[in-house]
Amino acid sequence: MRYTSEFRDKTLIQGILKEIRRTVSQRWVIMEICGGQTHAILRYGLDQLLPPEVELVHGPGCPVCVTPLELVDKAISIATLPEVIFTSYGDMLRVPGSSQDLFSARGAGAQVKVVYSPLDAVEIAKNNPDKQVVFFAIGFETTAPANVSSVLQAKALGIKNYSILSSMVRVPPAMHAILGAPHNRVQGFLAAGHVCTVMGYWEYPPIAEQYHVPITVTGFEPLDLLQGIYMTLQQLEAGQYQTQNAYTRAVTYEGNRSAQALITQTLEPCDRQWRGIGLIPMSGWKLREEYRDFDAEHRFRVSHIQTKESEVCISGLILQGIKKPNQCPAFRTLCTPENPLGATMVSSEGACSAYFRYSRDQEDIQDHATRSERF
Ligand code: SF4
Repeated sequence: MRYTSEFRDKTLIQGILKEIRRTVSQRWVIMEICGGQTHAILRYGLDQLLPPEVELVHGPGCPVCVTPLELVDKAISIATLPEVIFTSYGDMLRVPGSSQDLFSARGAGAQVKVVYSPLDAVEIAKNNPDKQVVFFAIGFETTAPANVSSVLQAKALGIKNYSILSSMVRVPPAMHAILGAPHNRVQGFLAAGHVCTVMGYWEYPPIAEQYHVPITVTGFEPLDLLQGIYMTLQQLEAGQYQTQNAYTRAVTYEGNRSAQALITQTLEPCDRQWRGIGLIPMSGWKLREEYRDFDAEHRFRVSHIQTKESEVCISGLILQGIKKPNQCPAFRTLCTPENPLGATMVSSEGACSAYFRYSRDQEDIQDHATRSERF
């Protein structure tokens, strides 16, 4: 049975690759927004199977990577307060702040706990009424409903010692920022399927229209990704710029209206810094006034944060599709997963960690072309 489905997938992949080769007549640059898609592309070698005219660049859709340095430093400051239990997903612990990370703060005595859900953090707050429990709420539209559910649950249960440190961000303003930049190279987008399961894709047609860029909602399996790339290339070659859905088994145009209502009830858009990129207007979410007591930045007045980025890290250029990780002089030398200089090397969704893990040390165009032909 397994053999049959693998054989079928391989046959389909060969078929799509053949169609892609037949379609492409010139060089195109396509950005996959999501870090999960970046890892799947590199893991399955899809970048090497495509014709050399098709360049994939890797977008800012890794929540760990884009959490601003100032907020990482704030998290560390809050975590080191004696009355605080600081909770976070594991990925954030190794993200470098200006002088240390949460992992080393824990080593120095801070109470930092890894949780798998914000509801686990609410439970910790319930069981430790003499402590302040803070959850590091990072993420895109996909995780926002779970983050705000924890606030609603704490409020419903009357738990007053729980708050979130919010680094929730939105995809559409980031697309505007990338496409509107003077050095933009992106000509087509693969939109992140999981974000669209929540938000639908009704926000994207105006972006496609404004910048004349096709956008294809795309999943995460090799076949999904090749289908999304193929549909984007068909539009590029035809001079079209529509928003299409290549992930119909999971995504509808409207998305999950209940989840969107939950977000609208509790959060409002705000300007937000993106690590390495800078301020993107209305690209973040903050808790509405009526939930402000659950906002850790409001509860803990952490000031005097002096941030200092690594001078060699070019992750901001990578997240905008301008450079590739293997063009960074520190890649695999000064910067490795054991000793990361930037968040894109830490996160399981970061482009630099993907290039490290799947050995994309150099872009060998000749080898790329040969492999593509052979498949
Ligand atoms: S390899 Fe390291 S230093 Fe270079 S861009 Fe990536 S995270 Fe930054």
